Amino acid sequence: MPTNFLHTPIDYLNGVGPARAKLLKAELGISTYGDLANLFPNRYIDKTKYYKINELVPDSAHVQIIGKVTHIKTMGDGRSSRLVATFIDGTGSMELVWFKGQKYFKDNLKLNVPYVIYGKVSKYGSKYNVAHPDVELLKDHRSRQQSAMTPIYPSTEQLTKRNVTNKMMVRMMQQLFSEVQHSFTETLSDQIRSQHQLVDKNTAMYNAHFPKSAALLQQSIYRLKFEELFFIQMELLLQNRIRKTRIKGYSFEKVGKYFNDFYSNHLPFELTGAQKRVVKEIRADMGTGAHMNRLLQGDVGSGKTIVAVLTCLLAIDNGYQACIMAPTEILAQQHYQGVSELLENTGLKVSLLTGSVKTKARRIIHSDLEDGTLNILIGTHALIEDKVRFKNLGVAIVDEQHRFGVAQRAKLWKKNDLPPHVLVMTATPIPRTLAMSLYGDLDISVIDELPPGRKEIKTVHRYDKNRLGVFSFLKEEISKGRQVYMVYPLIEESETLDYKDLMDGYESVVREFPAPQYQVSIVHGRMKPEDKDYEMERFVKGETQIMVATTVIEVGVNVPNASVMVIESAERFGLSQLHQLRGRVGRGADQSFCILITSYKLSTEAKTRIETMVATTDGFEIAEVDLKLRGPGDMMGTRQSGVLALRVADIVKDNDILAVARNTAIELLQKDATLALPEHESIKKVLQFLQSKKGLWKYIS
Ligand code: ADP
Ligand code: MG
Repeated sequence: MPTNFLHTPIDYLNGVGPARAKLLKAELGISTYGDLANLFPNRYIDKTKYYKINELVPDSAHVQIIGKVTHIKTMGDGRSSRLVATFIDGTGSMELVWFKGQKYFKDNLKLNVPYVIYGKVSKYGSKYNVAHPDVELLKDHRSRQQSAMTPIYPSTEQLTKRNVTNKMMVRMMQQLFSEVQHSFTETLSDQIRSQHQLVDKNTAMYNAHFPKSAALLQQSIYRLKFEELFFIQMELLLQNRIRKTRIKGYSFEKVGKYFNDFYSNHLPFELTGAQKRVVKEIRADMGTGAHMNRLLQGDVGSGKTIVAVLTCLLAIDNGYQACIMAPTEILAQQHYQGVSELLENTGLKVSLLTGSVKTKARRIIHSDLEDGTLNILIGTHALIEDKVRFKNLGVAIVDEQHRFGVAQRAKLWKKNDLPPHVLVMTATPIPRTLAMSLYGDLDISVIDELPPGRKEIKTVHRYDKNRLGVFSFLKEEISKGRQVYMVYPLIEESETLDYKDLMDGYESVVREFPAPQYQVSIVHGRMKPEDKDYEMERFVKGETQIMVATTVIEVGVNVPNASVMVIESAERFGLSQLHQLRGRVGRGADQSFCILITSYKLSTEAKTRIETMVATTDGFEIAEVDLKLRGPGDMMGTRQSGVLALRVADIVKDNDILAVARNTAIELLQKDATLALPEHESIKKVLQFLQSKKGLWKYIS
């Protein structure tokens, strides 16, 4: 078998014709031997073990049981319609349930004939059941040889429909391995393998598919995960080095008049240690002559704005302009107000550009920008329109970047000869190793300290029925001069219903808090921008005590006098969203509160979210839980291609292996930056292959 068998088209495999090859490609992205070999089982089941019904426990997970069907009936109707079969084995009785394919099973299931069923057990009331079990007549089952630890491969609806069963996948894999056995090339060096006690590539590949023992399986999977994460880290580290050494950026060498004057005379408060450290990091980074691409993480209220302002001043001191881009009109406006106030007596010119800026004002901004009289431009997406031309943009600051696509970020770059430095600010804390994997091309700064004197926000959970109690608490707080946010969920799929809830809620709030004693604002996405701004402004000025809103106020909005955040239907919000919303309060000197209102019925996941919110205000802790609940793809808002498309490793669960792999990669590059040593030949080959499409390798070799 030649070493490049991995590239052999899958049609060549015995038993795979053109039709099936096409299906495998479409459904699982498998077009070569290598692709198939790298399709790893989701799990393994011990098909030599049979359970009795009276041995089942609530978390039995996947089990295999021998028994008979005694009754079949259809229950419920419409969406809850299901076929229910009573299944007994002499030790007890349970139910098999089908929501889909009811007719098929109704017509084909035989009564009082021994079957083997296999599936995931759950308990409903006092009865165990399996939804959509695999069913096989016992006599057919017996005629096949069973082995311990049968691999279960990923499948899709189409594959199932077209009868590409797991059995068939296993057979294909067996065929593949009989053809290519022992011809997988080792990809790691002996040194790395012995240091981390990793089994060799062939052993790992074989046992991942056909485990000879539980121990070998575990070692094999570990090795494959390590390998996968190691090469990702190598790629990221190399990429990062290329950016640092090859992509030129403006060199902001001096710290001049504007920065120094502001720092000594206009800082409204002393910077926290973390803020000072981060400013130093940014300053150093922008002074190297390489392009800065930095992610600034800091929990809500940690004080990222002042860091942004100081960063702008560094650019201005070196003769350049700066811009700050925010995801919403309201946020852009707030930044504009905040920054203008901070820079009031500095003689610098700051403007706001959003979609609602009128043509005339816009023209002035355009010309000020082009002749350089404008120092800082703040705005929304409007900043990256083609008509917006900076004289010399030195730094672009992007706030809450997860709302912007990477493509948009790249667009900013095209405005001048050299790319402006980029500082991306986010309040979504990302566990560090995960951040490294997601944003390998970014450097990371973290503000991990809140400004002094902040009181912990008290968070409680209340049910719908306690709303009156909540209202009277709000009245108390308002009588002390405080202001209140009441937030309603709004998701696209049920937008109309959600708006109705919001308006109903608004009306009941107005009833409960009547004028003239109380003034209530409302802000939502269907309002005209000028109306929104008007209402927002009334609230900011303290003219209204209650702000009823959708999540438009989620990010960045700063009203220090607002000290209560009420979140309606809190079970419908994600954790990071809840955390962001809570961050709107606790900005002033008063004790702040967050009240999460839910219905009685909560899913397990929703319960975890609410409990987490009540238990902690630590953004990183919340991020960890969020990550576990949702997985990294969702958390980032977009699935980052490549990085997260892992074959064996799980970027969340295998965080420990990731850290080891990363350190190994760092050590390796410290020892042999160009991978010139003969013992690193195999690693270099893999990287060359991985990089061949990206054209990065030429910089290294
Ligand atoms: P975020 O990181 O959420 O953008 P902001 O920059 O809006 O946070 O800051 C939150 C609040 O904390 C603002 O009112 C700001 O003026 C205040 N603040 C920021 N840094 C400090 C500090 N070092 N000392 C005291 N207050 C600070
Ligand atoms: Mg902010």
